[in-house]
Amino acid sequence: MVEEVTKEAVAAIAEKVPVKAEPQPVAEKQTNCLGCNKPLKKIKKYYRNGKFFCSKRCWLKAVEKSKEEKK
Ligand SMILES: [Zn+2]
Repeated sequence: MVEEVTKEAVAAIAEKVPVKAEPQPVAEKQTNCLGCNKPLKKIKKYYRNGKFFCSKRCWLKAVEKSKEEKK
């Protein structure tokens, strides 16, 4: 009997107290160019349609790629 009470108590504690603090969902930051996948920090950013690229060429490349994916 004592064992059952103990199990219930442990279960109750486990439900009330989160063992691990869940990591908060971090908004994914775009760090790489979507055209050539190079890091965007050191190079000039080319901003189009809410996305970053390192150059217009890479932007066009990504646009064409996304078009192909939609087909
Ligand atoms: Zn690029």
